[in-house]
Amino acid sequence: MIHELEPRNFNNAYLSRKAEPEDVFLAYQGDNVLAKEGADRLWYPSFADFARDYPQLRDNAQYLFAVDDVCFYLVEESGLDSAEGWVYVPVTRFRAEWQHWRAFAGAVGWQLYRWYRNHRYCSRCGGKMLRSTKERMLFCQACSFQVYPTISPSVIVAVYDGDRLLLTKYKGQTHNRYALVAGFCEIGESMEQAVRREVEEEVGLKVKNLYYYKSQPWPFTSTMLAGFYAELDGDSTVKLQEDELAEAVWLKREDIPPVGQSPSLTGEMIEAFRTGAVKL
Ligand SMILES: [Zn+2]
Repeated sequence: MIHELEPRNFNNAYLSRKAEPEDVFLAYQGDNVLAKEGADRLWYPSFADFARDYPQLRDNAQYLFAVDDVCFYLVEESGLDSAEGWVYVPVTRFRAEWQHWRAFAGAVGWQLYRWYRNHRYCSRCGGKMLRSTKERMLFCQACSFQVYPTISPSVIVAVYDGDRLLLTKYKGQTHNRYALVAGFCEIGESMEQAVRREVEEEVGLKVKNLYYYKSQPWPFTSTMLAGFYAELDGDSTVKLQEDELAEAVWLKREDIPPVGQSPSLTGEMIEAFRTGAVKL
């Protein structure tokens, strides 16, 4: 999965540290990241690469995290693609190149970029938000309101019935991959309750024997995914929630298209069921 960087170490501890010339920076423009396109992967710039034309970049950079001894910073300057060789490429590349550890760094950086951008002003009083130098937190100068990075808990549910798995396709997706039932946890609700509600809402089925599998941070949507296997309870007739799903089908183990190694928990869960790697 995209967040599994081992043997590298993703260190998200917050540091109040000024950028050095050799440090790497991430600069985004909407859904694009500044990069140099290598033959098979993206390369991010270091401050040294831009020192001549943009000597102030280091002063205004925000520390993000480190991968091993590589420190990543956020730079909010735009138009940096005027430098030769550097271009803005769509963040969808992170998913395509997920097996390279830089992809996850770029995706988490994009999550933090969106968070900083979306919290410039206090949602309580409209005052200007300032950055804490002690932790990854924004606070309002006027009313002291504090904001931490937004992470929304969600569930992924692999509904099974013997050797059949319920596979879905969401509406409006450009790719044609199968997915699983999934949704956000609502307020006042446990993850197990969210599992039962989402399955009922999306495909009109009841489930029992919930088995928690794994979790995954998914920076693309600022979510924390919790994956469950859930056994069908009763009638297997699907009643599709048509505004959300395009398709939901029961496929036998041997008819499920192989997924192989996957960036996502959804993909890993489908593959684990298909190969029998998960014991239910
Ligand atoms: Zn305020």
